[in-house]
Amino acid sequence: MKKYNFYAGPSILPQYTIEKTAEAVVDFAGTGLSVMEVSHRSKEFVAVMDEAQQLFKDLLNIPEGYSVVFMGGGASTQFAMVPFNLFKTKAAYLNTGAWSKKAIKEAQGFGEVDVVASSEDKLFNYIPKGYTIPEDADYFHITTNNTIYGTEIKYDMDSPVPLVADMSSDIFSRPIDVSKYAIIYGGAQKNLAPAGVTFAIVKEDILREFNHYVPNMLKYKTHIDKGSMFNTPPVLPVFSALQTLTWLKDNGGINEMHSKNEYKAGLLYDEIDRNSLFRATVADENDRSLMNICFVMNDGYEPLEKSFFDFATSEGMVGIKGHRSVGGFRASTYNALPADSVKALVNTMKEFEEKNR
Ligand SMILES: *Cc1c(COP(=O)(O)O)cnc(C)c1O
Repeated sequence: MKKYNFYAGPSILPQYTIEKTAEAVVDFAGTGLSVMEVSHRSKEFVAVMDEAQQLFKDLLNIPEGYSVVFMGGGASTQFAMVPFNLFKTKAAYLNTGAWSKKAIKEAQGFGEVDVVASSEDKLFNYIPKGYTIPEDADYFHITTNNTIYGTEIKYDMDSPVPLVADMSSDIFSRPIDVSKYAIIYGGAQKNLAPAGVTFAIVKEDILREFNHYVPNMLKYKTHIDKGSMFNTPPVLPVFSALQTLTWLKDNGGINEMHSKNEYKAGLLYDEIDRNSLFRATVADENDRSLMNICFVMNDGYEPLEKSFFDFATSEGMVGIKGHRSVGGFRASTYNALPADSVKALVNTMKEFEEKNR
């Protein structure tokens, strides 16, 4: 039976990426060797790394003065790497969910952290507004897409201090003005590649010398200076990332992705809002994520939750269980998810309503 993959991460990748990776696992670039068993310094792999960095820059229109680096460690290592590279006396953070909280916790290990606003009072079901970013902070950190709660900051904000963004789950989903950010980082396993590679887009002139020791592996400069080859990079995930970047380019680039994502998310939110059995957890349309769409049983229909889950599973839906802290359902509609998958989910919801009204 056909499966519709709504997992939040690791998550759906383009079929193109999976097939090209499968081929290269057997025979990489005509070398007769697997991509897993060639030197990262071979000319074939160096070409992969260079092209991946270049395509990253082309697709996002990254201006001069920024570097793209690939590392290991996941976004969770970036939670510490950011303060290691930018923290002097005080940092400012926006608390929009579990990932923000983890980032805040790491920064607190370095000194004073000003949490300028939080949506924790309502289980993170909105994006805080009307706060002021302190001008004496070394940087301001945001999580643009809150994978667990389905909220998203869908615009590039102005910040009086260097802006740092965790874009693990919405990178490449919409056009961004990179010039507004000092650092953008993320784990690749939501919208780009298999787990194992982490990307960062770093404005070079914000990096400076420190009077305290910073481990080499945790300095952006180390990775920038060595072209992401200071140590052995995650070769296979970088290869796969290049395939996804190529797929993005061949399929109209980020603007095209964005309109498809808006279309897909629109289909699903419309059905959630229409269907009497369900309710979106995020009420304000401006705050609704295009990537992770969270919904629960409507008031009075809570006892049907398991029944809907079982029905959806029998119809081929995979990975729609909500995060344990939110409950209900979460459909992740990443770039690689075809609109037909969303239509199948919408039909399942309609059928379930017919049966249960
Ligand atoms: C998944 C996720 C993370 C954690 O990423 P790891 O690569 O597992 O460390 C951090 N931030 C956001 C927004 C995420 O979605």
